[in-house]
Amino acid sequence: MMSGLNLAQQEAVNYMQGPCLVLAGAGSGKTRVITHKIARLIQTGVEARRILAITFTNKAAAEMRERAKGLIGREAKEVVICTFHALGVRLLRQDGEVLGLKPQFSILDTDDVTSILKDAGGTTDAATARQWQWAISLWKNMGLNAAQAEAQAKDDNEKVTARIMARYEERLTAYQSVDFDDLIGLPLKLLRDHAQVREKWQKNLGHVLVDEYQDTNATQYELLKLLVGERGRFTAVGDDDQSIYGWRGATLDNLKRLPQDWPNLKVVKLEQNYRSTSAILRAANNVIQPNPKLFPKTLFSELGEGEPVRVVDCDNEEHEAERVVARMQSIRANGMGKDWKDFAVLYRANHQARIFEQALRKAQIPYKVSGGQSFFDRAEIRDLCAWLRLWVNNDDDPAFLRSITTPKRGIGHTTLQNLGVFASKYKLSLFEALFSSSLGSVLPAKAVGSLHEFGRYVNDLEFRARRTEGAEDARAFLTEWLKDIGYEKHLYDSEDSEKLAASRWTNVLEFCDWMAQRCGGQIDDAAGVSVTSEKKSLLEVAQTIALLSTISEREQDQNVVTLSTLHASKGLEWPHVMLVGCVEGMLPFKLDDDDGQKGQANEGILQRLQEERRLMYVGITRAQRSLAVSWTKRRKKGREVVAATPSRFIAEMALDKATVKEDPREKLKALRAEFAKKSAAAAATGAGAGSS
Ligand code: ATP
Ligand code: MG
Repeated sequence: MMSGLNLAQQEAVNYMQGPCLVLAGAGSGKTRVITHKIARLIQTGVEARRILAITFTNKAAAEMRERAKGLIGREAKEVVICTFHALGVRLLRQDGEVLGLKPQFSILDTDDVTSILKDAGGTTDAATARQWQWAISLWKNMGLNAAQAEAQAKDDNEKVTARIMARYEERLTAYQSVDFDDLIGLPLKLLRDHAQVREKWQKNLGHVLVDEYQDTNATQYELLKLLVGERGRFTAVGDDDQSIYGWRGATLDNLKRLPQDWPNLKVVKLEQNYRSTSAILRAANNVIQPNPKLFPKTLFSELGEGEPVRVVDCDNEEHEAERVVARMQSIRANGMGKDWKDFAVLYRANHQARIFEQALRKAQIPYKVSGGQSFFDRAEIRDLCAWLRLWVNNDDDPAFLRSITTPKRGIGHTTLQNLGVFASKYKLSLFEALFSSSLGSVLPAKAVGSLHEFGRYVNDLEFRARRTEGAEDARAFLTEWLKDIGYEKHLYDSEDSEKLAASRWTNVLEFCDWMAQRCGGQIDDAAGVSVTSEKKSLLEVAQTIALLSTISEREQDQNVVTLSTLHASKGLEWPHVMLVGCVEGMLPFKLDDDDGQKGQANEGILQRLQEERRLMYVGITRAQRSLAVSWTKRRKKGREVVAATPSRFIAEMALDKATVKEDPREKLKALRAEFAKKSAAAAATGAGAGSS
């Protein structure tokens, strides 16, 4: 097992007594250290279920589980590999009752949060609600509650937001619901304020490993500290140069705090990069070099100089997409790459994907967009999830409202409004209110009858979902339920195009099938909320759904080009990477403040530039064998087309001017001509196929 590791990596893997930090640049095998350490821990007798590995995404968790399985086999199933958020769910489901949270609490997604905030703040404007959402989220990540936020508010605007936060929190309590930030904040509170729970978890955990440590925020760090306790048996791996989530509250202070909080911290540095050629690595090092150094680092590669990094000049975005496609084709034509999955196109912002999608489709090249709209964001899947949430937690009002109206069942807006007024008057959830004996005083008997019918139906579903176990039964149950509520018909009725309705229905079936497989224990839970391979009840499976954002197991083996944002590309690698849209204003993103401080080198701008530079560094270091960066002379900005200049990062890469530029279309043309010549020659000499 140690054979695939260099000496420094082995040192990190073998050190188990206390806290250990692996601090190293991109592609140096940090993630590999974690997977091997999991295996090593098990080998030395630590029970698999007492090992906890924390990753940045569900997908990374699933991948790590696969790798660990490759090293140690079935036992890897028992290791808890999950994100901080999934860990939070585990903590709260097991012990959240001390905080007054029922085990079947719901997890709200951002849309639910927006609509609750609209309600709490008395507005119909989604943009305003999202601004509050943003502010509240930052406060929560800083560990502030509504009262504390109000106390430290800098202006009236913040004061108002803090008061809305208070109302928002009341509603979450009433709905037995939590938002994503609570999944970190509440477990932290749980462990901090309840010694018994804390001791139980500390005793149960043998070793904690954290990947992408540089992108943890302050509350996550506190949570980690409480989990590992004084013995501090943990391994964190990270790279300060790849910290790209500052805008979401991640802080490099967490790296600085480690040696202070743990004087016995063992620090291991890795210097060899196993991913990229020297040409690529040099460009990466040059770009990151101007940033201040938290820790000195050097990185070298033994993979040889490799292909020079290319700069592709383009007129506009369509032209850029065309050239990127031509480049892929020419790399395939000259035999440098053969599978579509060897290619990735990386960009700053989601909306940039569209033009590349069109070009790829036109060229009939298969692709997937990762980090964009996920399966679980689709309206039809969210409809179904609302129902599932309602079975699990009857008090979940947002889920209640969505289920009772999708598909429509003749319960009108006025009825629901009156029910809402009634419920809030008596501080009941909508579901509780529905069965209240005095409901008849505010609603006509017919409406009460329909509500009762719905309520009984939900109770019945819940009762049966609890008893439905295994893939077969789950599949049958789900099919029957969809038929009962008339969901297929609902899709065809509400969609103008039949084709679209059909594709949405396919998604529904795929979703049900996937749920059923989970009930049968055939799929590992990527979210890590539960990891046994035994049969599960449909209700148990439904509990974990809200946390998943991808049906990752379907994505894994697809032989397709990846389109991804730079943020979502973290930790991944591809043989051939194309970094597109490298123009000022996009990468680095617009740096000047809107309030006219243009060009002024204030502290905030400087820090943002540093984070942008790290983002560029992350992008460059995803490439294994070839890298192209492209920019356009003109770009769309809203509805306008404006002149653009190449990103300063291109100059900072300090590429050798003579070799860098290329026109992939010319190259492809030449390759095709050469190929045609060869086959013509072959045909002429009679060496072609079929000659005898
Ligand atoms: P990032 O900073 O991008 O997250 P990382 O430091 O986590 O990168 P890994 O993803 O673990 O790096 O490793 C990068 C690549 O190098 C992987 O393909 C991995 O399998 C390979 N690798 C790591 N260590 C070794 C080694 N000792 N021998 C051979 N290959 C290695
Ligand atoms: Mg990694």
